[in-house]
Amino acid sequence: MSSALDRLIKPHGGELVDRTGPRPDGVDSLERVVLSSRELADLDMIASGALSPLSGFMGRSDYESVLESMRLTNGLAWSLPVCLAVDEAPKGERVALAGEDGTLYAVLDVAEVYDYDVKREAELCYRTTDEAHPGVAVLLAQKPLYLAGEVTVFERQASLFPELALDPAATRALFAERGWRRVVGFQTRNPIHRAHEYLTKVALETVDGLLIHPLVGDTKAGDIPPDVRVECYHKLIEGYYPADRVVVSAFPAAMRYAGPREAIWHAICRKNYGCSHFIVGRDHAGVGSYYGTYDAQLIFDEFAPHELDIEPMMFEHSFWCRVCGSMASTKTCPHGASDRVVLSGTKVREMLAAGEEPPIEFTRPEVADVLIEAYRP
Ligand SMILES: [Zn+2]
Repeated sequence: MSSALDRLIKPHGGELVDRTGPRPDGVDSLERVVLSSRELADLDMIASGALSPLSGFMGRSDYESVLESMRLTNGLAWSLPVCLAVDEAPKGERVALAGEDGTLYAVLDVAEVYDYDVKREAELCYRTTDEAHPGVAVLLAQKPLYLAGEVTVFERQASLFPELALDPAATRALFAERGWRRVVGFQTRNPIHRAHEYLTKVALETVDGLLIHPLVGDTKAGDIPPDVRVECYHKLIEGYYPADRVVVSAFPAAMRYAGPREAIWHAICRKNYGCSHFIVGRDHAGVGSYYGTYDAQLIFDEFAPHELDIEPMMFEHSFWCRVCGSMASTKTCPHGASDRVVLSGTKVREMLAAGEEPPIEFTRPEVADVLIEAYRP
């Protein structure tokens, strides 16, 4: 078993971080810092090693280095700040980290408190300071100081989907048990229609296994809620994927909608879960028209291959072509737009809301049924 584990890609930085530990004495009397839902999601991912090599919230030098050069101060690739915002510096050397409901999750040993320039962070991470951008809006509403330090998490957050809650150590053990070495990760925050089913299967043709890893943390208003999506994934996989080649598990991160930088961050996290490959479609983690179509793919060129280690698999949009008689993309199909079954997101939503199934070439009927039920007023 250990040799099967050794054959998997190494975690980012070489070791899987584990910041879980027993509840220390005297936690109840510590000063409390209340975390936002996104900060709590980050905390839990630090605990599980999903954000290896991070062992806590970032200090100023790492923060600056990540903003400026997409590397930690030790030179390791890292594309997004993972910070904890507070109103004021704590008085003690140790604080308790709590949720908005008062639940205590962790202690943080205070290393540093520093101020930061919100606009600069927005510009460098999101490439915009427009407050209509959902990630920038969260940033602009943050408290004014960052509190840095290592964390010890003694209370894990309850998962919305306990059956899908697998930490990096657990996905790695599962991959090893199945004898997989090359595993492709697929990030999604949408139901999987035929186009994305096709990408995952094309990728799976070249590797040992597929991790369908839907993000279940915060998303923006208007995105399809995770419980509906999870039901769609189950129906799709039951009907159309070989069970012994696929693992479905929840990715607990909150969406930042940082486009290119988030694509790198998503890839690094999936490396920690044991993926050797990562699917990057057009406009990965994008929103509105803030990023160019290929920006999230091109940004991988800013890293030498060994820096990320995980291999991005870049894809074009795909569709059913009536002449090819198959799924295809502009890379593989020579026919025209009128031969292709392409529907806009708006059109699909209208059809579903009207109780109408999209064409079978666009969505599997089992998935359409779940969505129609969810859209029913
Ligand atoms: Zn064609």
